[in-house]
Amino acid sequence: MAIDATRPYDPDNIFAKILRGEIPNKTVYEDEWALAFHDINPAAPTHILVIPKGAYVSWDDFSARGSNEEIGGFVRAVGHVARALDLVAPGYRLLANVGGHAGQEVPHLHVHLFGGRPLGPMLA
Ligand code: IMP
Repeated sequence: MAIDATRPYDPDNIFAKILRGEIPNKTVYEDEWALAFHDINPAAPTHILVIPKGAYVSWDDFSARGSNEEIGGFVRAVGHVARALDLVAPGYRLLANVGGHAGQEVPHLHVHLFGGRPLGPMLA
């Protein structure tokens, strides 16, 4: 079920548990600002989730409360993952669902990184 993106951060959400090492994940990259790991239910040959280390519900929360340092570090981490996976030349897609209409299910900001095949037109 989709979350309410205006609600306070829940430290027991599944990605918070992944960040604390309480739930295993297939990490592809980690630095001071971000963790990137394979989506458990991939929608493309490459489907990575990149999450900030800080406690943010959504892109809205992060863009409102995140420091410039956190936001810069996170954006750079996303770009680094795409380059490290050789996705720039073939192309890739980034997606961040925010709240109900977008169908966001996990209440910790995550950017989906899709690649590995032509992805077709954007969904409206
Ligand atoms: P959302 O709909 O944008 O919130 O996307 C949540 C994503 O998290 C979905 O693509 C799920 O497959 C993925 N997911 C949920 N639990 C896990 C997990 O434990 N490991 C990796 N991916 C997960």
